[in-house]
Amino acid sequence: MIQCLLCNTIIDNQLSLVQILSFKPIVEKTICDDCADQFEYLKPPFCDGCGKKQIVEELCSDCQMWRDKSGYLLHNRSLLAYNEATKQFMQQYKFAGDFRLRQVFSDELRHLINDLHADLIIPIPVNEYTWKTRGFNQVVGMLNNINYENLLISKNNNQHKLQSHKKRYERLFTKQPFKLGDQSLKKIKDKKIILVDDVYTTGRTLYHAADLVQSCQPSELMSVTLAR
Ligand SMILES: [Zn+2]
Ligand SMILES: [Zn+2]
Repeated sequence: MIQCLLCNTIIDNQLSLVQILSFKPIVEKTICDDCADQFEYLKPPFCDGCGKKQIVEELCSDCQMWRDKSGYLLHNRSLLAYNEATKQFMQQYKFAGDFRLRQVFSDELRHLINDLHADLIIPIPVNEYTWKTRGFNQVVGMLNNINYENLLISKNNNQHKLQSHKKRYERLFTKQPFKLGDQSLKKIKDKKIILVDDVYTTGRTLYHAADLVQSCQPSELMSVTLAR
């Protein structure tokens, strides 16, 4: 008997004939169909920068601002739209600290990352305060069967206020919260790098991370997040 990790409904995990005959690997459900239907998967056309859904494929105004400010454009791709279901999911996963939820989207996230054929995956770290209160890095939690390196380190700069509790303008003006770990230059130079975070909100956090990675001259730099 399996219960939906989100609403606790009993999941019917009986295989349909179609599934059996498809000879595809069987993926164990972690959430029920009703809950699954609440999530919106992002499909093209995207903004070429942040990967958010667009009516026509063009660079959104936020990404134009980032490109001008940073001198480069970070190409981000996300699995889900940040809708009410995603918001509640993040609430339960991050803030209630329900570590089981790391499994819900980990397979799909892995496919998204693998399709981009990177040389090196670098997760966005959590700060010490989050580490102490939550006890896990929600990004690393979702990286199941993916090789990654913690080349970004959270600086201990007493930014105790969580990003998610900040207003939009406050987020845009946060100082560089990361530094690079040992041998980053050697590991990043001329390699295709993918940064991974849970949610792309203003882009501030990912651009901070990307600035550091860019300083090591990767051949290509992208990011992937669960939600946008
Ligand atoms: Zn459910
Ligand atoms: Zn954009």
